[in-house]
Amino acid sequence: MIHQTETIAAIATAMNNSGIGIIRISGADAFSIIHKIFRPAKEKDMQQVSSHTVHYGIIMDGDRIVDEVLVLIMKGPHTYTREDTVEIDCHGGMYVLNKTLELVLKNGARAAEPGEFTKRAFLNGRIDLSQAEAVIDVINAENDFALKSAVTQLKGSVSEKIRKEREVLLEQIAYIEAALDDPEHIEMDGYGDTLLPILQECRADIEALLANADDGRILKEGIKTVILGKPNVGKSSLLNALLGQDRAIVTEIAGTTRDALEESLRLNDVVLNMIDTAGIRSTEDVIEKIGVDKAKEYAKEADLIVFVADASRPLDENDREIISIIRDKKVIALLNKQDLEEAADREELKALLGEIPLIETSIVENVGLDTFVKTIREMFYRKEINFNDQVYITNARQKSALAAAEAALDKAVDSIAAGMSEDFFTIDMMDAYTQLGLVIGETVEDDLADEIFSRFCMGK
Ligand code: GDP
Repeated sequence: MIHQTETIAAIATAMNNSGIGIIRISGADAFSIIHKIFRPAKEKDMQQVSSHTVHYGIIMDGDRIVDEVLVLIMKGPHTYTREDTVEIDCHGGMYVLNKTLELVLKNGARAAEPGEFTKRAFLNGRIDLSQAEAVIDVINAENDFALKSAVTQLKGSVSEKIRKEREVLLEQIAYIEAALDDPEHIEMDGYGDTLLPILQECRADIEALLANADDGRILKEGIKTVILGKPNVGKSSLLNALLGQDRAIVTEIAGTTRDALEESLRLNDVVLNMIDTAGIRSTEDVIEKIGVDKAKEYAKEADLIVFVADASRPLDENDREIISIIRDKKVIALLNKQDLEEAADREELKALLGEIPLIETSIVENVGLDTFVKTIREMFYRKEINFNDQVYITNARQKSALAAAEAALDKAVDSIAAGMSEDFFTIDMMDAYTQLGLVIGETVEDDLADEIFSRFCMGK
């Protein structure tokens, strides 16, 4: 069933002057509106032409010519929104596009909200929510992986997996409910033994999806990188050198980089999200302490830690403390300020670092940064990504719904194992079912849908 009838219109192409610009109109009045404002080169009734055809002519405002255009006529339901849709291929100047859009609006359409076309595709059942989100991801994709995983999701691969799990759950819930209603005819004794492996398998499938979500996130959004090191070793200088701009405050006063700065940085297909933190050091200074605690916190969340040491000063307790915090993480160590006379004990540093790669740098002289970047690539991008049989969850909202479903299934499994009564675990199974529904949008509230679609650009 098509829910929406109000006709909407928007400029669907970029908001700057370009070769062509497209105005998209969707809804019950799309054809009658174009009939009023378009004069085809060969006379015809635009409301009667066949679907999925292109027509050449001019847009007229009364008897004034606005633009020379191509008009695409597409009848629902075989359209993006499933509604009758018209696209006007205009010249791409903002003035002429706005003029044409105004005319469309004057003749009965309403200006579309951002994402409203895709929202209609969702409400009219052509795509589910995970596919709608994939549309945003396709638009925002900035690398090959992001694009491929978004397109896979757009084709419905995530939805298909989730639907299968939900079907399994619903079948079991229905059986138990039926048995509770009609205990004389439906046998429940020992049913826990049947149910347990089914739920465990379902849980394992969800776990597998969650397990690769971090790989997916790294490839899509970048490597969350924290630079750690005591004050004045050159952390801000490193960030700035990589960014090629003076975004962080570089200073010679110890411990002034108190707030963490985050900068996204692209090195070909490698994206680093750099967090520059205050140096970790033993201190009684309260404000500095916040920086230290934060640094520890960031180290926990980071995909990669860059530890910077200063070659011109002897190693001290601060260096040793930081190394002890980060030892079991993915770390690259830099021994910076190679241009100065060496005072740090390199052998001790190597012994403390163990397996951690150590790169000698002089940031001020731009030495060693190439090796640094190369090492990152090798650490994170060695693995070939296989798109054929792998579904990646890269969306944070979907990930948290999956995690909630997993937790609910855990509870159900525990209840069964503890021999609880059936109505206990059906509640948790229903909860898992609902959470899985959130991934594909079967159980989303209107305001969540609104929130998601508002992240789209105009005309999509
Ligand atoms: P942070 O406190 O670790 O962020 O250190 P900064 O980046 O603020 O650097 C502290 C001081 O060391 C600044 O004066 C930098 O110019 C200087 N510095 C950074 N890297 C090098 C380097 O490789 N060689 C030399 N000689 N000085 C450096």
